[in-house]
Amino acid sequence: MTQYNPVTDDIMKALKHIVGDRFASNNPDKLVAYKTDQEENVIFQHMPEAVVYPETTEQVAEIMKLANEKRIPVTPRSGGTGLAGGAIPVRGGIVLVFDRMNKILELDPENLYVRVQAGTPTLEIQNAAKAHGLLYAGDPCSTDAGCEIGGNISTNAGGNKAVRFGTTRNQVYSLRCVTAQGEIMDVGARLKKQSTGYALEQLIIGSEGTLAIVTEATLKLQALPQNTIDMLAIFNDVDKALKLPNKILKAGINPISLELMDTNCIQLCKKNLEIDLPHADEKGVTYVIITIDGLTADEADEKMEKIADICDEVGVVDMLMADQDRIWRARRDIAEATRIESLVFYAEDIVVPVDKISDLMKKLTELEATYGIRTMTAAHIGDGNIHVHAMQCDTPDEVWNSKLDDFHADLYGYVYQLGGRLSGEHGIGSKKIREMEMFTPKVPLQYMRAIKKVFDPQNILNPGKIFTVEE
Ligand SMILES: Cc1cc2nc3c(=O)[nH]c(=O)nc-3n(C[C@H](O)[C@H](O)[C@H](O)COP(=O)(O)OP(=O)(O)OC[C@H]3O[C@@H](n4cnc5c(N)ncnc54)[C@H](O)[C@@H]3O)c2cc1C
Repeated sequence: MTQYNPVTDDIMKALKHIVGDRFASNNPDKLVAYKTDQEENVIFQHMPEAVVYPETTEQVAEIMKLANEKRIPVTPRSGGTGLAGGAIPVRGGIVLVFDRMNKILELDPENLYVRVQAGTPTLEIQNAAKAHGLLYAGDPCSTDAGCEIGGNISTNAGGNKAVRFGTTRNQVYSLRCVTAQGEIMDVGARLKKQSTGYALEQLIIGSEGTLAIVTEATLKLQALPQNTIDMLAIFNDVDKALKLPNKILKAGINPISLELMDTNCIQLCKKNLEIDLPHADEKGVTYVIITIDGLTADEADEKMEKIADICDEVGVVDMLMADQDRIWRARRDIAEATRIESLVFYAEDIVVPVDKISDLMKKLTELEATYGIRTMTAAHIGDGNIHVHAMQCDTPDEVWNSKLDDFHADLYGYVYQLGGRLSGEHGIGSKKIREMEMFTPKVPLQYMRAIKKVFDPQNILNPGKIFTVEE
């Protein structure tokens, strides 16, 4: 395992010299806020030795030069809403926080792009675009919780609109980054296409802070969808609901969102968020939220009618409008509904081919019974991305942690059999390293390790994430 040096008083002095006295600290009262992200299970948490709040890319570069020279781990952190333990400083060292690098630097509504600093809240980017009648299409459900663009880029965040617009990697033109050695590097360009060497920006997107620190991004904007309609299709059987995605796509409709909530999820939201949800107490109740749009109201209506026909064909029980205050609020706040039920829960992020979701849902019911684990499930069904929240409730810690290991071995093995992967959008972080190494074939894993070595020869950039560097 890589050996690191401690953050000494001299290093603290040097950090303060770079960012200013007020913006570097090793005070434990301050550090405690950075020992975790959204993770409540203490076995995943770890205290850093120092926190710094840079204001410019140049300061980030100076910090990295120092960390590289002294061999100190650096963990970048944006909004701290991650669900994979990616921003937890598992090897100690410095946490680099982007609170001061939170500005929209330029928004060009004519040419449809926006240039932002890494710590800009995603919600602010969305709102700034909206003020110009435009859309920033990255839309993880954590915008209200405070996720920031640097974190979205580094995890390749998805969300409710990914079925139409793709994940964060599809929204990025270019990045300004700082390397592990402290070089400032611009990658990508504001171009519709290019075949000019390796697409390094795409490699850095989704690399969870292990290859470079992102300090700025130029992002794509697009026309705000018009005449949107949010439909709620209610089923009494999850299998019927799962017939929808491919039928909708085959009908030539490109929905903005296609979201599923299973019975446990609906009932937990009703109880814990105190939302009056239709049909919530009925056996097998399953929701599918479908958002569509049209250039004209007539076009949107026509799509709605077509979808209503498809829903009828697969056996819908009821069709309603999915209002923002109840249905969408429930979908967005599933993490809160789960946390009220069980402070400690494990948020799965598995992804399978869309036509295999039904098999996976059956397996989940089986595993729930085998391991006696309570779960609730919500899914971006247009993307095959399933969020299962496995809840500890009152299971004692030791029993819970070992039960979870067995549940995971079974679940992930099946996901890979179906042609799936461990994570569709949250990343591997520090929590799924063992499984990443277990399920990734040897050769691609070797290449990933080799790439990490080229970018970060001393293994100081967010160590202890995605995979172990030493075989
Ligand atoms: C209520 C809730 C709903 C959520 N819904 C979704 C969803 O719909 N879709 C989805 O994809 N995720 C979702 N998430 C997970 C989380 O919000 C995303 O992973 C998000 O992208 C994390 O952004 P952040 O700013 O909080 O990053 P952080 O948690 O601070 O960091 C995430 C990772 O990025 C790295 N990182 C952060 N900033 C930088 C940087 N500047 N340079 C390099 N590396 C960096 C960190 O080291 C870490 O590995 C949800 C979380 C919650 C709590």
